[in-house]
Amino acid sequence: MTGQVEILLDTNLCNGYGVCVTIMPDVFDTPAGSPVAVLLRDRVEADETDDLDEAIRACPAQALAKRELAS
Ligand code: SF4
Repeated sequence: MTGQVEILLDTNLCNGYGVCVTIMPDVFDTPAGSPVAVLLRDRVEADETDDLDEAIRACPAQALAKRELAS
């Protein structure tokens, strides 16, 4: 797999715990006053997918998913 991966954040599920921010601070943020996380970018490169998989597994609200894009 060499293509990019799209990050899917379901803001209806997200509780703003910020676990994803700890794992990928360059991708996720929980701005002051926001009840949910926001995406700083919506794609990761192939060499970042391990970190994204960890964030997806670690999210306590199961608010994260991914979609592999054709390269
Ligand atoms: S870990 Fe999940 S619930 Fe927590 S801020 Fe990130 S997406 Fe939201």
